Amino acid sequence: MKTLIVSEKNIAARRIAQLLATGKVENGKVNKIDVYKFQYNGDEVVAMGLKGHILKVDFPDEYSNWQEPPPVDLVNAEIVKIPTQKTLVAALKKQAKDADNVIIATDFDREGELIGSDAIHEIQSVRPEMEFTRARFSALTKGEVTEAFNNLDVLDQSLANAGESRQDIDLIWGATLTRFISLASTRLGNQFLSVGRVQSPTLSLVVDRERERQAFVSQTYWQLHGLFDGQGERFTASHKEEKFWEKAAVEKAVANLGGAEASDLSMNNPVVMDTSGTVTAVKRTARTSKPPAPFNTTSFLAAAASQGVSPANAMRIAEGLYMEGFISYPRVDNTVYPKSLPLHEILNNISGAESIGHLAKELAAQKELTPTRGKKQATDHPPIHPTAAASKDRLTGVDWKIYELIVRRFLATLATISKSESMRIDIDVSGEPFFVRGSRVVEDGWLRYYPYSKKKDELLPDLKEGEVVSLVERTVEEKETQPPGRYSQGGLIQEMEKLGLGTKATRHSIIQNLNSRSYMHSDPIVPTDLGMAVADSLKKHAGTISSPEMTARLEADMDNIAEGSKTREEVVTRSREMLREVMDELIKNTEAVGAEIRGGIQESRTVGSCPKCGEPLRIIRAKKSKKRFVGCSNYPDCKTSYPLPQYGDIIALGTTCDQCGSPKIKVISKGRRPWEICLDTQCPTKEEYRKKAKAKKT
Ligand SMILES: [Zn+2]
Ligand SMILES: [Zn+2]
Repeated sequence: MKTLIVSEKNIAARRIAQLLATGKVENGKVNKIDVYKFQYNGDEVVAMGLKGHILKVDFPDEYSNWQEPPPVDLVNAEIVKIPTQKTLVAALKKQAKDADNVIIATDFDREGELIGSDAIHEIQSVRPEMEFTRARFSALTKGEVTEAFNNLDVLDQSLANAGESRQDIDLIWGATLTRFISLASTRLGNQFLSVGRVQSPTLSLVVDRERERQAFVSQTYWQLHGLFDGQGERFTASHKEEKFWEKAAVEKAVANLGGAEASDLSMNNPVVMDTSGTVTAVKRTARTSKPPAPFNTTSFLAAAASQGVSPANAMRIAEGLYMEGFISYPRVDNTVYPKSLPLHEILNNISGAESIGHLAKELAAQKELTPTRGKKQATDHPPIHPTAAASKDRLTGVDWKIYELIVRRFLATLATISKSESMRIDIDVSGEPFFVRGSRVVEDGWLRYYPYSKKKDELLPDLKEGEVVSLVERTVEEKETQPPGRYSQGGLIQEMEKLGLGTKATRHSIIQNLNSRSYMHSDPIVPTDLGMAVADSLKKHAGTISSPEMTARLEADMDNIAEGSKTREEVVTRSREMLREVMDELIKNTEAVGAEIRGGIQESRTVGSCPKCGEPLRIIRAKKSKKRFVGCSNYPDCKTSYPLPQYGDIIALGTTCDQCGSPKIKVISKGRRPWEICLDTQCPTKEEYRKKAKAKKT
């Protein structure tokens, strides 16, 4: 018997060959594509890897011009499948001619099933009578792979159909809307504006948050803190009125505290005090925290993002670690380990891991292991877990960081609860109530294995009710309320999962696309002017595109195809009808959409009108230096210009300075209070600042 094994990638084919071979693996090439020959159970086997999808969907040639026929014609256009890798498909057919049977060993999920199904179609065109089987495994380890090849199954056509309908629907929606919006706003060529079924509602989340931030009116408040000394230890307690909204109220509290400068707030500077207070209450509470649930794709990507690795990067690394046999398959919804998962065996397998292996040994010594369970139970794959020991020189830098994160999470899911004690002390100083909270970990439990979640202990002296403490210093701070925070990359992925936007396999790449289309940037995520204009216009004229409901409904439909309760035709046809309705609405508003997007781009760059000529002043980025400044749109006739801070977001306030008459802007930058300034550097309000700057220089 001659067997051909087809895997999703070359590296997986090589690994499968190494794991299965009785004897040596012989490397060869067919049409320049790597193949691996070996003996298995007395059969002659050849393993070859594809490069992911071998076919892609597109419209026939007559639709290649964006201007003609109109975009709406794409809604019901025929869809064709085109080979993406011609030499690869040729090699696959050539190799299949020599084989008696074919085993599909692509990744076990929708995309993998679809890739396998496409490969079968291509092979059947040269060998119609070929026999096909399917090997399914969740990790590229000897145990898993051998087990899979000893228990071959058949391809799941429903799963492949679900993958195929996604391709169709994303093509139809993406191409139709992208062409329409780009034409309407005359952004063609490489400036085209991309719109997508999942991409647009995701962008909308980010933009809505930004609008909330812009509409936010910050309010000034004051805080009063005291530095106390009790039993020779110093600690800071806050006034029970955590936010004083009236300056008079904080002044009154400060006056009650007494002291030499009772009337002086000495804003933001500590004032030395010589008075005492009494402890009115001490409360201790024991707390426990449960170990975290096993990793699925979403929780893994969120955890990686909080360690500074972007979702797209973390996914790429995890796929590499899977291919190398270090971790299990990383695309998974499941957060419950199946009963069959050999926990002790896994612990033993990773106990040789550099610098963290001893932690696995510790847990392996326990007879009984009770793993945590997450809320999502699925049967696709086990949650992400390590499968082999690695060392830092095999995996460098960030790859190690991700490997360590996955190992530590696995260990944490098998560990015990952590126990801590929190403490609250209340103090009265001349009738003014202060309080402070402290906490310390009593028993590390799972935090020993997963230190990422560990907070620093806040220790307090062991005070008793009625004890006298001294107030050493007091500080009044003036602060501003802050707008709601932006989404972090990890937070956005979690929000997408909650709303049913995209899948475990697509979410990270949706975020990456929005970044590379210049709709948003950074972490936390900041939408650009362009991103805001596109999202606002779509929301106004085709609300269904930006609302998560529509796309979540389609995701549910695709799940139904996978389960076999709906057909691909039904779902694709329904999505065409939904898109048709959206397009009818958009076409009616073509001019408005175009004007809004073009105008929106201009508008958000306008900071006010020029004091010399009255024309709009715009934020401009210098072509060469990339530095931003404000210039008059009447340039070169009017040469008015102002420098801008190079960091932070600039929001036009629409007001003018009452001293110099120039427009005012708000600068929001990370780690500092938003501040408002007028554009004129020579403005009298900046006199003091200029003096300080001068003093620094000399
Ligand atoms: Zn001007
Ligand atoms: Zn001014």
